[in-house]
Amino acid sequence: MLGAHDLILNEVLHTRTMDDVAMDESLMAASSQSEDAFEKPTFINGKYGNPKSFLGWTGLPGLREGWRYKRNKDLSNIPSSEQELNKALPLVEPKFNPDAQLEATWIGHATVVVTLDGATFITDPIWSNHCSPFFFYGPKRYRPPPCQITDLKKVDFVVISHNHYDHLDVSSVRQLEQQFGGGKDGLRWFVPMGLKGWMEKNGCRQVEELTWGEKKSITINSKQFDVHCVPAQHWSTRTGFDRFKSLWSGWAVVGPQHRFYFAGDTGFCKEEFGKIGRRIGPFDLAAIPLGCYEPKWFMSPQHIGPEEAVEIHKLIRAKKSIGVHWGTFHMGSHEPYMEPKLLLEEAVKKAGLDKEAFITVHHGETRNYSNSKSEEQFHK
Ligand SMILES: [Zn+2]
Repeated sequence: MLGAHDLILNEVLHTRTMDDVAMDESLMAASSQSEDAFEKPTFINGKYGNPKSFLGWTGLPGLREGWRYKRNKDLSNIPSSEQELNKALPLVEPKFNPDAQLEATWIGHATVVVTLDGATFITDPIWSNHCSPFFFYGPKRYRPPPCQITDLKKVDFVVISHNHYDHLDVSSVRQLEQQFGGGKDGLRWFVPMGLKGWMEKNGCRQVEELTWGEKKSITINSKQFDVHCVPAQHWSTRTGFDRFKSLWSGWAVVGPQHRFYFAGDTGFCKEEFGKIGRRIGPFDLAAIPLGCYEPKWFMSPQHIGPEEAVEIHKLIRAKKSIGVHWGTFHMGSHEPYMEPKLLLEEAVKKAGLDKEAFITVHHGETRNYSNSKSEEQFHK
């Protein structure tokens, strides 16, 4: 099938008599643009895969790595004292403004409530206490959500990065659909390929299923929003028997005035992040994961740490970023629980960025980005 870039190339070829030298330059520009197209996931025997060009993807750890990981020392050291946790990771009350030009509230882990040009959406909503098939078992939440779903004033759509339990939470999905779904302007769900059936089985009425490089335009309050599904380097499973059967992705939301990027859950894939920056960026705001990176030899194909997060911030051309995917669940990674925040501060400094360019926020904290002057009022 002819893509937009092939059409550009055809156009260039048909006007070749005009000026050969100039044409050669156009050709080069057109072909480099088509090289800039996003990678597609592989799809073999019903399973998705990270393409060969994702050099950091070395596959899932095997049995041997599993044993080595078990023997690795867990330095997470999450305090059992509520008092200590309240001090290190305080909860604050969200201050949602559904009319904001651009604001973001971190609920915890990868859950961010964003209002952009008057549309409100959530990334990977999880309000549950455990992320596992059981509500009483599995990685436990050590910081509670700062508000309930019933406290949300309005949600127009949700983007889901993949089906791991800490990103796709059945009770949050059902509750959000119940509260905001139904009707023409009801809640919409954006999911990567292979997840539509699961969403519908759980009651979601308007589900858009996309692959990398696809976008869907929607109208909210008579304004157009483009929701782009973009590559991420990760994997999927829920039951252990369904590995790679549904896709994983990041998401970019382009409104009439502002642009937002959510990296989802991902390893470092320089080429694709560069393309996201060139093709859809620059972004006014991004949510990028920071945590779950130790031991690196085990985690790095699927998760990044703070230094790589800063690299992504630069590659996607974000003006401001918020670090997520840390400080909420004990996910089984071994870094000290406050280290992602500290290493981010160091990495931001080392990269020569303004210290406000890429930050962590408190659970529940609402940051307004509509007007850069208003940032002064927030905590340091
Ligand atoms: Zn995951």
